[in-house]
Amino acid sequence: MPIYNFSAGPAVLPQPVITQIQAELPSFQGSGMSILEISHRSDLFAQVLQDAEQDLRDLMAIPDNYHVLFFQGGGTLQFTAAPLNLAPHHRIGLLDSGHWAQRAADEAKRVGTKVTILGSSAANHFNQLPTVVQPIDQSLDYIHLTTNNTIEGTMMTRLPATGQVPLVADMSSNFLGEPYQVSDFGLIFAGAQKNLGPAGLTIVIVRDDLIGQVANLPSMLDYQLFADKNSMFNTPPVFAIYAAGLVLKWLKAQGGLNVMTARNHAKAALLYDFLDQSQLFTNPVKTSDRSTMNVPFVTGQADLDAAVIQGAREHGLLNLKGHRLVGGMRASLYNAMPLAGVQALVDYLAAFEAHHR
Ligand code: PLP
Repeated sequence: MPIYNFSAGPAVLPQPVITQIQAELPSFQGSGMSILEISHRSDLFAQVLQDAEQDLRDLMAIPDNYHVLFFQGGGTLQFTAAPLNLAPHHRIGLLDSGHWAQRAADEAKRVGTKVTILGSSAANHFNQLPTVVQPIDQSLDYIHLTTNNTIEGTMMTRLPATGQVPLVADMSSNFLGEPYQVSDFGLIFAGAQKNLGPAGLTIVIVRDDLIGQVANLPSMLDYQLFADKNSMFNTPPVFAIYAAGLVLKWLKAQGGLNVMTARNHAKAALLYDFLDQSQLFTNPVKTSDRSTMNVPFVTGQADLDAAVIQGAREHGLLNLKGHRLVGGMRASLYNAMPLAGVQALVDYLAAFEAHHR
């Protein structure tokens, strides 16, 4: 029985990448040392880091005036790093699109940033994206938004017009899953453990004129320092960067982000079309705001939801339990989830429904 992992993260990785990691693990590039053992100052790792950056630049067409930085600390640390580096006047705007946006607001406030909510969909239980109040105060340092709301299942593809105010995007859960124009943003950050690789690595893509504005930041949060040191201020997460590098090469071999986006839209359509005709299952998200990455759905009865999840597990369909804040089910359909996995899920849900009618 094939196993399909619908976890929201850490999440499924491409099978050829896992196979390559397994094959290379005892001796990286014939060195006699595992990738787990090599020095981050070695030529071997220098090449890994350089390739990962270049492949990411190629895939996203990252302009030359943007730095690509490799951090630890997850998306959560960037909720602190972004205001410290990019908000010298301690004033930001934020779109309140759900849990992770609110976590970003909380962390920005902890470092003395005034956070103005420019729009919220809390009154709609975050089942749609917030609309932005206009006009936007042009003296804000930046505007924070979450391009994909992992828990609530909404995704922003059309960006708000913000005039001169840079956009800062938490792209953690649809990084490399949807094509965005990097030049639309001052800063993009994303934890790797959904679409890019294992946990322990966070990508920061930042416009070079926006950094270096604030002196004496804590070193591990200082974008300028990380840019100056080529992300090697201290020991970087060697294994996570190596694995992410393999995923980037896999993405290129698939044909790049346009191919992945088309596949992701086809996978999501398969599941949404099923849910929309179902008499048992519903997805509560406004159609135009639906995520292609994370699809929450419910039966409306907690005991039936539990039975769906249990039965799914027995069919090799794993990690479908919804986030504890919203309950129900959630299927995450990141790049490495094949169409066959989504088809298997739909077939299972249809059979479950037929049985419980
Ligand atoms: N932002 C979004 C959109 C997320 O989905 C998550 C985690 O799921 C985070 C931030 C936090 O990421 P991390 O656990 O890497 O700190």
